[in-house]
Amino acid sequence: MRIELNVERCIGAGMCALTAPDLFDQDEDEGTVVLLAQPATPAQERAARQAADRCPSGTIRVVEDAADADATAAQPGHSTG
Ligand code: SF4
Repeated sequence: MRIELNVERCIGAGMCALTAPDLFDQDEDEGTVVLLAQPATPAQERAARQAADRCPSGTIRVVEDAADADATAAQPGHSTG
């Protein structure tokens, strides 16, 4: 999964930073959301979904990545990196 932010909508309520402090912070001047990291663990993914639920302005969008669902079944493969 990955998080997308529509920062223009953010009203600085801070629920995201309270709910998932690993992932979100707030801009010191504007109070708007800052993405610290994409979720990397199941716990962080849960926190990201909660943050998206609690955000009153719809700023946070959680995009489920179809490739993730297949990750456990993927063959050992070619690294592109
Ligand atoms: S919860 Fe939503 S409105 Fe509040 S700071 Fe986070 S992204 Fe902005």
